Amino acid sequence: MVVIRGATTIEHDDKDEIRKAVRELLEQIESRNGIKESEIVSIVFSSTSDIHSYYPAKAAREAGFESCSLFSAMEPEIDGGLNLCIRVMMFIEKNVEPHHVYLRGARVLRKDLTAKINVAIDGPAGSGKSTIAKALSRDYKILYLDTGAMYRACALKALNEGADVEDEAALCDLMRELSLAIEYVDGVQHTILDGKDVSEEIRSPRVSMAASTVSKYPCVRMKMVEKQREIAGKMSCVLDGRDIGSYVLPDAEFKFFLTASPEVRARRRYDELVAKGYEVDFEELKREIERRDLQDSTREFSPLRKADDAVVIDTSEMSIDEVLKEIKKTMQEKI
Ligand code: C5P
Repeated sequence: MVVIRGATTIEHDDKDEIRKAVRELLEQIESRNGIKESEIVSIVFSSTSDIHSYYPAKAAREAGFESCSLFSAMEPEIDGGLNLCIRVMMFIEKNVEPHHVYLRGARVLRKDLTAKINVAIDGPAGSGKSTIAKALSRDYKILYLDTGAMYRACALKALNEGADVEDEAALCDLMRELSLAIEYVDGVQHTILDGKDVSEEIRSPRVSMAASTVSKYPCVRMKMVEKQREIAGKMSCVLDGRDIGSYVLPDAEFKFFLTASPEVRARRRYDELVAKGYEVDFEELKREIERRDLQDSTREFSPLRKADDAVVIDTSEMSIDEVLKEIKKTMQEKI
């Protein structure tokens, strides 16, 4: 008797999704292991406690698995576990080397099966990087590191000290005494500058432009990159930025480069800032974003650049859900 394991995830607790996911999982197990239904003795399913609308065993019976015994159970809720996940153990009467099958990101969260993974999401301002990176980190339960916040904190430091953000020597001096910490409270990143939480303050348009200016200097970048590599070296995380795939983590397991038209990007930033209570002029914001992108992509040291092996996604006409789906599909195909 050989046991083959498998798992898959669904997006919603929905009967049809469960049926489709179960059928796909079982068919993949059969085809990857070259087994016929008559060789299956029994199939045991377990599903996470957020799945209520259908028994996976019933879905298997309907999918044509008629002669084997079937059983479904519910898993206890485990902190840090995967959501909406269906797992399976298939007992077969055949002597094969088992090929276990993990679909739709189900392996990503199996901490015992998955080594550390880093996901790099680069792109210009307003391309949707941070929204997507946050959603991925939530769904895959891995850390989200907003690297832009780090450069923003450096810029705020310079502004607070009254330093000229174009004065490289003064900035390098400031970098030597910079006290910057990245902390997490309930999975949300907090940027602590000189002991003060500046997570909100660094979002202002004044800081955005200054961040783009200070981040062109190697002494600023080297210090931030060292921190980013240290964090990403220790744990699985999603990092968003400009040069993550091309420079910070050239060996990242997954690399994406998001783009969108300047109009769409300016609109997103505008809506975001207005929602936070800032008074902004749309045309001015659009010009600022264009200036920032130009400065970010033409700087000499580690500019905004797509890594050769990054997957490009133009998000102009896509919803957040669509982008997320595409990214997860790409990741799943690579696992
Ligand atoms: O992503 P965000 O808009 O917060 O980034 C602010 C600025 O920080 C960018 O315009 C860019 O100049 C700089 N940055 C960078 N490299 C990164 C992330 C951000 O140069 N990895």
